[in-house]
Amino acid sequence: MLKKLNDYLYRLPKTGKMQVEGLIIASEKLLPALYRDESLKQLQNAASLPGVYRAVYGMPDLHEGFGLPIGGVMATVLPEGLISAGAVGMDINCGVRLLTTPFLAEEISRERLAELIKAIEKYVPAGVGKKNWEKEVRSLLPKVLLKGARALLEEGYGFAEDLNKIEEGGVLAGAEIKALSETALSRGAEGLGTLGGGNHFIEVQVVAEVRRWEVAQSFGLYPGMLCLMVHTGSRGLGHQVCTDYTEILYKAGPKYNVSVPVKGLAAVPFSSPEGQRYYQAMLASANFAYANRQLITHYLRQVFKSYLGDGKLDLVYDLAHNIAKEEYHDGIKVLVHRKGATRALPAGHRENLPQFREIGQPVLIPGSMGTKSYVLRATSNISLTFNSLNHGAGRSMSRKASLKNLTVSEVKKALGDVILNEKVEYVRDEAPQAYKDIDLVIEAVVGAGLAEVVAVLKPLAVIKG
Ligand code: 5GP
Ligand code: MN
Ligand code: MN
Repeated sequence: MLKKLNDYLYRLPKTGKMQVEGLIIASEKLLPALYRDESLKQLQNAASLPGVYRAVYGMPDLHEGFGLPIGGVMATVLPEGLISAGAVGMDINCGVRLLTTPFLAEEISRERLAELIKAIEKYVPAGVGKKNWEKEVRSLLPKVLLKGARALLEEGYGFAEDLNKIEEGGVLAGAEIKALSETALSRGAEGLGTLGGGNHFIEVQVVAEVRRWEVAQSFGLYPGMLCLMVHTGSRGLGHQVCTDYTEILYKAGPKYNVSVPVKGLAAVPFSSPEGQRYYQAMLASANFAYANRQLITHYLRQVFKSYLGDGKLDLVYDLAHNIAKEEYHDGIKVLVHRKGATRALPAGHRENLPQFREIGQPVLIPGSMGTKSYVLRATSNISLTFNSLNHGAGRSMSRKASLKNLTVSEVKKALGDVILNEKVEYVRDEAPQAYKDIDLVIEAVVGAGLAEVVAVLKPLAVIKG
């Protein structure tokens, strides 16, 4: 089905109802997984939507999702172009934040690390459906929905400098509380300050390798440093918004002569009342997620201060990987849906936050709880993919298949001496084996000329949701 263009670029030719072709970043070794699941079919479906612009893109962590595959990028021409809740994803503004600590990894013993993650878990409840421990934060919900991470600074949960390292300054304009259902709001209130289930994590890492010294230095990263990576999103709120609006958009589609190949791609014109409503709800959920990662950072600072005596945790960056954004590409205004894909602005891009304008933004790529994670920087070729990169390694095995096929001892072996908050038995569906090989994924984006490796991180202790 795919045509090889070079070692790392493959074309998904225009067939059937496809309006545009697909472009996939992969390699010989990554291809078999793409033929095993429905991700290519899902990209073809996305390419068949009216008004889709230039091409649909598959990142090397591509795998099957709801509507658009995870690792998929799709843009539509504004203002009439379509907006799709399923193409943003269930966990709106799921994203990653990287923090540096004032410690070297070698200063903290394994015993202390094990105690540290227990202490963190008390402040940041982890697991499906867990509620916040500090009930007072619930009353901040309206502010958080409108003002994102910025709202929390006003309450003392963080520092002004934090905002300089959060994509979009931690807040997106245009959110509307009225666009959210009562259920979404109540799920949001309980979820603020929690980590969530399964794939979400707080990971204690070490900077194992620096490949681009100057760039790493300007990101604040040095070899041997103890770091923290946080992966979470908009919790039950985003999930509810995606569910609510997939129904609404699916029903409204025919009014605008939009017929979609699958319900997961339910879509309406961006400029329609339903499209604008979803967008307002998406923006509110995205603001919630920026704030959620900020509140968790505040808790982490408290734990580090009380437990290790120094709570100076500095942000490297915070970015979204499930979101739709209005952007200009080729001089045209489009809505870029990135689902399990990261916006990656290169050096010189004017939309970078001021301190990254010359050097380019950090791109944070988690691998798995037992393997490396990466910090990348996009090259100037990144316009090829609407300034997008992958968001992780991507699943290679479904949760169900992992639980069925992977034994506790196999997973233990893959984890090596990484400390876990959970019994290995319960997180087999998050095993390193359940994900693609992160090194191959990184090789593909580097080989395609889209990015370079700045630093390599290794896990020491992981709190799994
Ligand atoms: P997603 O947002 O699609 O759930 O996950 C993003 C990526 O995070 C996955 O594709 C995977 O590569 C990575 N990942 C999942 N669990 C962990 C973990 O515990 N630690 C690290 N470092 N990465 C993980
Ligand atoms: Mn998520
Ligand atoms: Mn995610």
